[in-house]
Amino acid sequence: MKASPPPLRIDGSTGLCCLIGNPVRHSISPQMHNAAFQALNLNLVYLAFQVEDGLGEAVKGLRSLGVKGFNVTIPYKVSVMDHLDALDDSALRIGAVNTVLNRDGTLIGYNTDGRGFIRSIGIENIKDRGLTVLGAGGAARAIVYESARYASRIFILNRTLSRAEALAEEVASRLGLSLDTEIEAMPLNPGSLRKALEHSSLLANATPIGMYPRVDESPVPEGLLRRDLTVFDAVYNPLETRLLREARLIGATTVNGLEMLIHQGGEAFKIWTGLDPPIEAMRSAALKALRGHGRPRGAWRVKP
Ligand code: NAP
Repeated sequence: MKASPPPLRIDGSTGLCCLIGNPVRHSISPQMHNAAFQALNLNLVYLAFQVEDGLGEAVKGLRSLGVKGFNVTIPYKVSVMDHLDALDDSALRIGAVNTVLNRDGTLIGYNTDGRGFIRSIGIENIKDRGLTVLGAGGAARAIVYESARYASRIFILNRTLSRAEALAEEVASRLGLSLDTEIEAMPLNPGSLRKALEHSSLLANATPIGMYPRVDESPVPEGLLRRDLTVFDAVYNPLETRLLREARLIGATTVNGLEMLIHQGGEAFKIWTGLDPPIEAMRSAALKALRGHGRPRGAWRVKP
């Protein structure tokens, strides 16, 4: 029989981690992080706070209260940077913060989305490989910036070509000097997809195409998928999107967006506690939380 985790302990020295954003009600971070704290018997709790306005006041309050750290979500991932004391390289590169560490009163901003992506795929599946990324928004930025350190070639395909071009240029100029990675921007259409996928072993969808309720949509025509591709979808509702289902059915390796979410949380946990995150406990809490929200829709599949 599985040993149950120790009961939640709250006392006068319990530390606080939290999420700020708007909305936050749908977030599964509280379940995921509290499960992690419990699994390692840490005297910490995690709560979610909806901040309507007055972001600066909220951050000031968190500092005064001596929270251990906090996560930041939409719409504050960029604006929160004005209220922090320092930014880690990850936040500087991506230009957004999703995790803050309170180190003895100094608030340091990080971005763990990119590392969450790399961990969910496995670095061996990115290193010296070609990567096709669909989208040029927040998720794509994190994926491209982090992957540019490892991949040999990156294709950014976006509905609005100018955004893909701007991201490609920005990444190349910020990281270019120390990189051999080629970064190319293209419009998101079947012709470009065919060309990009010919040179890629990894495909990452970072658009909301296929997300509930439009679950019958896929950003990639089925005929362009190959068995030897690793296919990632940032969407996690449903857990298995049409893209992932079609990829799985032809024998490709698939990774869903929940894995990125869990691993970005794991990286935040590590920043706050200095400990390796209990990923299994976090994954099972995340899945349970999604089911509690009436989700997930579709089968739960990750790469073996
Ligand atoms: P975002 O900043 O709004 O960017 C959305 C991107 O998708 C843009 O490039 C946009 O293209 C493109 N797009 C939107 N609708 C499209 C459509 N109908 N056809 C073609 N392209 C379309 O959003 P985001 O924060 O990057 O999020 C993207 C997806 O990733 C969402 O489903 C989100 O839930 C998911 N996500 C997952 C994680 C995770 O940890 N798993 C983390 C972050 C985000 P244009 O530039 O042309 O508008």
